[in-house]
Amino acid sequence: MPAIGAEFLPRIRRNEPMSRHTSWHVGGPADIYFTPDDRADLAAFLRSVSADVPICWVGLGSNLLVRDGGIEGVVISMHGTFDRLERVAPDMVCGEAGVACARIARQCIKWGLGPAEFFAGIPGTLGGALAMNAGAFGGETWRHVVEVETIDRRGREHRRPASEYRVSYRHVEPPVAEEWFLAAKLRFEARPAEHRSEVDLLLERRKATQPIGEWSCGSVFTNPPGDHAARLIEAAGLKGLRIGGASVSLKHANFIINHGEATAADVESLIARVQDEVQRVHGVHLHPEVRMVGRAAARTRGESH
Ligand SMILES: Cc1cc2nc3c(=O)[nH]c(=O)nc-3n(C[C@H](O)[C@H](O)[C@H](O)COP(=O)(O)OP(=O)(O)OC[C@H]3O[C@@H](n4cnc5c(N)ncnc54)[C@H](O)[C@@H]3O)c2cc1C
Repeated sequence: MPAIGAEFLPRIRRNEPMSRHTSWHVGGPADIYFTPDDRADLAAFLRSVSADVPICWVGLGSNLLVRDGGIEGVVISMHGTFDRLERVAPDMVCGEAGVACARIARQCIKWGLGPAEFFAGIPGTLGGALAMNAGAFGGETWRHVVEVETIDRRGREHRRPASEYRVSYRHVEPPVAEEWFLAAKLRFEARPAEHRSEVDLLLERRKATQPIGEWSCGSVFTNPPGDHAARLIEAAGLKGLRIGGASVSLKHANFIINHGEATAADVESLIARVQDEVQRVHGVHLHPEVRMVGRAAARTRGESH
């Protein structure tokens, strides 16, 4: 069992199944799972974790493939506690990392600020959106970031301007390793109230083209320059390809669906199989957008079509 402060022992969950905390509903147990009450609590917890214990941050697990062997060390979740969202200036909001992106979209519309509608399409937290530079419907998280507040493994807080991060499509390079997001200030423009219905329209459009409601992690691969991963996968004839309990969605080829009984190994094998086939057919290497974490997967099951 990883070393953490004795005072936290009654509040941690040991061997917590990560399948409960990921939208794919797969993944083995985290050695230790902790949800801090507030910043002081989080800082004290971090200070109590031995320097050699790995720390993994999780938002809503909507972009995470946790392997079946689970996560070694500590998993920290801020969803449900770090959920303050305020308007701090006429054109600026400050959100804590645990705030759901959909709430940012709704609240900004109420405040007459935008364009924030794209956040409605991201079923994760602001912390996850900052880590991923999540984007939808033509909008992107870091286009709006003014500054972030972070915390390091010694529990020290930092305030950093957006310019300290190297940001690109679904990729964010922090200035230092092992610093995690506590909050961000986001700048928007004043918007008329009729933008309210835009979110509904965008979500309806999405529902028509994506398998929303099924167990997935959204798009599995980033789009290669000038093309779409979904087009390449579909053109390679991979829609419906199945390994164990996971298959390539028939509705949107860049989605992999867990039909209920998939293991993380099924999903990971399918990801590798799709990469191999797309490379063979199109000569294009697809890069996973989903973050894969955790210990080696269990035995792989057979493939079918
Ligand atoms: C149906 C569906 C549709 C989706 N559509 C889109 C889309 O249109 N566009 C898009 O960009 N994504 C999309 N996604 C993927 C996903 O919602 C986003 O990547 C989202 O930003 C992940 O947020 P999360 O809170 O779930 O993060 P998690 O999946 O929990 O974590 C993702 C990464 O962020 C890190 N992280 C989380 N919180 C913090 C923190 N506080 N500090 C530092 N690192 C942190 C984690 O360690 C991990 O590396 C979709 C997913 C689903 C299931």
